[in-house]
Amino acid sequence: MCRDFDILKLGHPHLRLTAEAVNDVASDNNQVLFRQLLSFVIAQQGMGIAAPQVDISQRFFIMSSHPNSRYPHAPVMEPTVVINPEILWMSDRKEKDWEGCLSVPGVRALVPRNTEIKVRYTLPTNKIIESAYSGFIARVFQHEYDHLNGLVFLDRIETSHDIMVEDEWQKRIVNQDQHASNTAF
Ligand code: ZN
Repeated sequence: MCRDFDILKLGHPHLRLTAEAVNDVASDNNQVLFRQLLSFVIAQQGMGIAAPQVDISQRFFIMSSHPNSRYPHAPVMEPTVVINPEILWMSDRKEKDWEGCLSVPGVRALVPRNTEIKVRYTLPTNKIIESAYSGFIARVFQHEYDHLNGLVFLDRIETSHDIMVEDEWQKRIVNQDQHASNTAF
């Protein structure tokens, strides 16, 4: 079941497309794809990936969360396939924190995100979930959701001064963080 996906990098025009809704969640093709992308994220210990990042222009992403030294308080969340997500509500309050992206290697930036969101999405079982997320998980959700609309985290920054090249970020922000490279999503 482990399939190696090629990740599209910033500059590839497909990353800028608005993805299409998943029409038949239960189809064999889609079920295989959900499982393959899920195992890919688990194998990489990633925090998430959106289908458009592997050149599948469909509205689903994998969301995951686990503590590491960069985000010691990140909650543990089983990697979840989030299909046809909607953001129903967002808090006015925003917070800046560091993000990286598998499609933008070598770059980190401070990204303002709404601290609380209410969302609805479908699971591979076709069950519809309504949930509220805050903090780190709300951040990951918004990052992945943006990919479905052709946006990357650099589109959200306030100033180019909030961008760092990976090794400067490692030196100045992360220091002894062994797991920093796992925080890109
Ligand atoms: Zn990303």
